[in-house]
Amino acid sequence: MRVSRRIFLAIKSLVSFYTKTLLGSSKVLASSEANIASKKRMIATAEVIVIGAGIAGLSAASNLQKQGKKVVILEARERIGGRIWTDHSWNNLSLDLGATWIHGIKNNPITELVQNFNIKTTPTNYDSHLLYGEEGNLLTDAQQDKIDTRFEKLLNSINNYRSKLAKSESEDISLEQAFGMLFATRKLSVKESLELNYTINSVIEHEYATDISDLSLYNWDQDDELNGGDALLPDGYDQVTKVLAEGLDIRLNHVVQRVEYSSRGVRVITNHGTHEAEQAIITLPLGVLKKDVIEFSPPLPERKQAAIKRLGMGVLNKVYLRFSEVFWDKDSDMLGFISENKGKWSEFLNIYKYTNKSVLLGFNAGKYGLETERLTDKEIVEAAMTVLRKIYSNSIPNPEAWLITRWGNDPFTYGSYSHIPPNASGKDYDILAEPVNNQLFFAGEATSRKYPGTVHGALLSGQREAKRILRN
Ligand SMILES: Cc1cc2nc3c(=O)[nH]c(=O)nc-3n(C[C@H](O)[C@H](O)[C@H](O)COP(=O)(O)OP(=O)(O)OC[C@H]3O[C@@H](n4cnc5c(N)ncnc54)[C@H](O)[C@@H]3O)c2cc1C
Repeated sequence: MRVSRRIFLAIKSLVSFYTKTLLGSSKVLASSEANIASKKRMIATAEVIVIGAGIAGLSAASNLQKQGKKVVILEARERIGGRIWTDHSWNNLSLDLGATWIHGIKNNPITELVQNFNIKTTPTNYDSHLLYGEEGNLLTDAQQDKIDTRFEKLLNSINNYRSKLAKSESEDISLEQAFGMLFATRKLSVKESLELNYTINSVIEHEYATDISDLSLYNWDQDDELNGGDALLPDGYDQVTKVLAEGLDIRLNHVVQRVEYSSRGVRVITNHGTHEAEQAIITLPLGVLKKDVIEFSPPLPERKQAAIKRLGMGVLNKVYLRFSEVFWDKDSDMLGFISENKGKWSEFLNIYKYTNKSVLLGFNAGKYGLETERLTDKEIVEAAMTVLRKIYSNSIPNPEAWLITRWGNDPFTYGSYSHIPPNASGKDYDILAEPVNNQLFFAGEATSRKYPGTVHGALLSGQREAKRILRN
């Protein structure tokens, strides 16, 4: 999620350092068919097995199949899409529980896809943003501008500080430590400090799905941006995965447990039998690789294992709240809240603006995002409502319904997307992408050095690995 691009895009160029330096006709095996397959302990032989039917796996498989390769996709879940997941349980509403935006619509392969398939998109205007203080008071535009300008200056200072550290070849530290250094001599008022925490959280921590304590000062922002502003898909991101999946052989409910590779080929052991192929593309999320729940035999090369350890998998969670009426500003895209507690409920997206339905979407990232996963749905909704009541008074109605994500504990991702902690670097994404023995190939957002944590990065990584196989 890239909530606060309003000022993020403005400052990104200032701070960059090393940078710039469906099922319809598809052959998806529904669970009942998969059960039959499992009973027969069938061995499906293909030229290439793709592990994971997220956007990376789907794009790899469709590119290979178009070039005449026989491909089978093994997917653990009972659905395709992975971290693209649209909920349709509320009447006439398609709500994205994973990715929401096409980040940077210009020269974006997702834009090309949505245009080719006439999928509707709506731009998000990050300038259309109301900001509320910790007492629920609405800040004026001038007050917001002042906060933004102060933050931009601060990031400039951080940038200078990091250049100085790099010149003296100092060890990497966290972004939080760098902020701490800057404020060692500068005293902030309580108000300024709350405003700073709000901006850090909404601009950086939501963007990277982790706390600044877990971001490398040297490399946190080494990723690249596409231009053109962001757009979302009011009728759901799953339209994209559905069109990509058409005509592909996808085995749902196939949880991969072990991957064996040797000169004779690749064997993939799942809960529904063993599958063999000449090559495999692995699109397992970084969180799954980090948990070490899938056995590789022989083990993955040490340098790949080390890169998996160094990179971080963060958490961004969403809470959709449906109300009987709209009590908030109908015309604003975003509603910000300067919380007394850093990281709690700092941004809401006004879903009404895109759908005409009385729905708000709250975001929580990093430590607090993960913490919410231990709470009951009722407790999470109550926490959101405490903030909304502060802003809109006690007379607002309780929500009629809610949808809550828990990506951190999801066994098929263990997190939302990757980031670069202290002492890791963009190079680790490249290492993750390195093939092993010309048999195992790796795709997925965490193999994209340029566009990690995005849908387009994942899609391009799938194309990259398909090309690599076809070149051989
Ligand atoms: C809350 C949230 C908000 C986001 N917002 C945005 C956004 O607005 N814009 C944007 O560009 N990006 C966003 N992202 C990031 C984006 O969703 C991901 O980068 C992208 O979807 C990742 O695709 P992938 O194919 O690499 O991985 P995945 O989609 O995770 O695909 C991997 C697949 O592997 C499967 N799998 C896992 N374990 C096994 C196993 N053992 N056996 C078989 N299969 C297995 C999974 O079920 C999954 O289907 C967001 C992500 C989240 C979670």
